[in-house]
Amino acid sequence: MSKDSAAALVERSLAHVWHPCTQMKDHEWLPLVPITRGEGAWLYGPDDKRYFDAVSAWWTNLFGHRHPHIVSRLKEQLDTLDHVMLAGFTHPPVVELSERLARITPGDLSRCMYTDNGSSAVEVALKMSHHYWVNSGKPEKTRFIALSGSYHGETLGALAVSSTGLYRDAYKQLLLEPIVVRGPDCGILEPGGRPPGRSWEDHARARFKEMERALEQYADTTAAVIVEPLIQCASGMRMWPPIYLKLLSEACKRHGVHLIADEIAVGFCRTGKLFACEWADVTPDFMCLSKGLTGGTLPLAVCLTNEHIYQAFYDDYASGKAFLHSHSYTGNPITCTAALATLDILEQRDWPAHVRNLGQRLYGALSELSRHPHVADIRQQGLVVAVDLAQDGPAAKPYAAGERRGLRVYQHGLTRGALLRPLGNTVYFMPPYVTTPEEIDWLAEVAIEGIHSATAD
Ligand SMILES: *Cc1c(COP(=O)(O)O)cnc(C)c1O
Repeated sequence: MSKDSAAALVERSLAHVWHPCTQMKDHEWLPLVPITRGEGAWLYGPDDKRYFDAVSAWWTNLFGHRHPHIVSRLKEQLDTLDHVMLAGFTHPPVVELSERLARITPGDLSRCMYTDNGSSAVEVALKMSHHYWVNSGKPEKTRFIALSGSYHGETLGALAVSSTGLYRDAYKQLLLEPIVVRGPDCGILEPGGRPPGRSWEDHARARFKEMERALEQYADTTAAVIVEPLIQCASGMRMWPPIYLKLLSEACKRHGVHLIADEIAVGFCRTGKLFACEWADVTPDFMCLSKGLTGGTLPLAVCLTNEHIYQAFYDDYASGKAFLHSHSYTGNPITCTAALATLDILEQRDWPAHVRNLGQRLYGALSELSRHPHVADIRQQGLVVAVDLAQDGPAAKPYAAGERRGLRVYQHGLTRGALLRPLGNTVYFMPPYVTTPEEIDWLAEVAIEGIHSATAD
């Protein structure tokens, strides 16, 4: 594609495509990046420009773009069965995928309800939890508890239990009101956050007391607590330790409230274990998965639950207890095949250990930033590393959002061929697991340069 046709593509995009999560006016000065091919961890634009995909195509990609095994299984499936509705019918990919997910997910999770994006899987978890209580004679359990800094998606139910104002505020009059409890985020930028000196575990235990109080007060009317285990990704890669999840799981059982683990972003080894719940040895009542589920190729999500919850819906039709939720493409054979191919690759080596090693290397490569006057915090969990920029690093006074310092790092990255899309003042890395150690070092170098220049004035 020539330079002219690349420019034409951008122009045509701006004429008709409403891009997600974007103030479209920004594209008057911020160039839209055309991409025509992907291979491994790299995205290629016209004119041989290439970008290292350090955010894994919005956290979906695990093994690089167009992984040969996924591509070949998809081609086979395309020649076999494209789609069949899943009500009254079934097919091999959905059966095999459900068996395998039941096997690899924690504890007794064994029943799979499919949707085609993560937000819809969260809707299923919320509806199923409340409906379980209705079917069990407790229809008054209508509320949900969510953590501050949470993000669970964009549909109205999922958005309702997300406390990130940036995405939520414009719609707040339309939304259910969750009970928001201050979360265990161990960053130091949050007002009233972890005091520098206090350990993550002590901070999490202290914060848990607020959750315990909320459960004591609201358990009778609460269906479920929903959390993103270990990393609240969308609100700035905020991290917290497994002890909170452990305490929460025990407390939910004690109070008769479901636990929903939204592992849409952190599942499939991202945190250095296959599922983040494994760090705390916790089995939730519902687990939502998406993003990495298809290795970053096709949209698919699933909400898993256990046999006990399933049985509360299992009755004669006339009882009216069935879960009458569907999407046209529920359990699509092609997307399920992408997930099966992804699970094949996941079984090929010890990815969790590999992810932990790469994460450590990246954290180490960024260590000089700990002395940077405009870096407030650097943190890592598995292959997620985040750096908070601040006006005054140690005092952690954040830059005004309008200064868009993170965006300057992004712009610098693009000039060096690295895609580092920030979250406000947080510059983060979430690269595919096939990133080489040398690429890790290079990404760190590009980010350090970008941070120097973005904070120089
Ligand atoms: C991305 C995300 C979602 C929403 O998934 P979509 O497929 O974008 O609808 C929900 N929860 C978490 C934790 C996510 O990161």
